[in-house]
Amino acid sequence: MREAVLRPAWAEVDLHAVRHNVRVLSELAQPAEFLAVVKANGYGLGAVPVARAALEAGATRLGVAVVDEGIALREAGIDAPILVLSEPALPEAMAEAVHHRLTPTLYTEAGVEMAAFAVGQRRPMNVELKVDTGMHRVGADADTAVKVARLIQDSPHLHLAGLWTHLAVADEPENPYTALQLERFESARDRLAREGVVPEYVHAANSAGAIAHPGARYDVVRCGIALYGYDPSPALAGLVDLRPALTLRARVSHVQELAAGERLSYGLRYEVKERSLIATVPLGYADGVPRRWFDVGGSVLIGGRRVPIAGTITMDQLVVDCGSTLEVGVGSDVVLLGRQGDQEITADEWAAALGTINYEVLCGIGPRVTRVHIG
Ligand SMILES: *Cc1c(COP(=O)(O)O)cnc(C)c1O
Repeated sequence: MREAVLRPAWAEVDLHAVRHNVRVLSELAQPAEFLAVVKANGYGLGAVPVARAALEAGATRLGVAVVDEGIALREAGIDAPILVLSEPALPEAMAEAVHHRLTPTLYTEAGVEMAAFAVGQRRPMNVELKVDTGMHRVGADADTAVKVARLIQDSPHLHLAGLWTHLAVADEPENPYTALQLERFESARDRLAREGVVPEYVHAANSAGAIAHPGARYDVVRCGIALYGYDPSPALAGLVDLRPALTLRARVSHVQELAAGERLSYGLRYEVKERSLIATVPLGYADGVPRRWFDVGGSVLIGGRRVPIAGTITMDQLVVDCGSTLEVGVGSDVVLLGRQGDQEITADEWAAALGTINYEVLCGIGPRVTRVHIG
């Protein structure tokens, strides 16, 4: 909060919205359990508060990308099962995973050996086996999966809790590749069953899978983007009543009245058309407002109106052209992402203009921006 006071720019995270999203997604996917994916600091919204809110609303599991993220949750006192979504690559990381009761994902024989060594003679550790069914990022192919599963079974202190895969195009509802991946997944599961390997639960769905592919829901859905209230892709917009949890806001830090013909910011790339109030906003590209947002016609909300960004976005600040009629002064409320009055600027609007996806917009909000959690 201190930074939010000293520098009037912050990301407001609505935990009521997070809880709402968990509830509607859980209802949709039930009886599947809800695993809240809180990697990358909860997609930029704050892993610990989001994880707590998700668990309060019925999530039973958490997912992180790397061991350090799992440790941070444990150190905050969170006790729920935490799945590390990739195989820890270093023995030290595996040892920490054991120490903090994280559930590593495994998909190589070397990974199983590392896990067995890290566990030593301590109480059993849950692990999960990831099968690659066509995403080709990480995971075991069908033959390797059998070998890895056998090795896990033969390790007295490893317990194969889950079997899972990841979908490459679940956000394209018409793409037949998802059905092919699910077929491969089930055939891997059947083959393991014939080998006597039956995990407690299986899972495949990310947010898009949970929303658009009922056949992918299985026992657990792993939701990230939808947990935060954003659609996994424009093709899935509006299918579920999601509430965006993030508002990126600031207060005007400086105002000047400039005459027509004056030019602004680095490169003097914006020209004032008529006598206007030019407001400075204390957020820049180091905070995750992409420099290109000016070039593609970006705007902010002030006084319930859309106000264009007026010149090159700098590292720490940007300027906007409030024209001649808007009432604006130092301290005026500025919304860069989110709602103000009946206007809204969405992460999807940024993403479409910038040629990226809403995920990258959220993760891009810099560490210097204080997260203020509401509710
Ligand atoms: C990031 C991630 C998810 C969550 O994906 P969303 O599209 O944000 O729901 C699920 N599973 C794995 C393996 C991931 O890496």
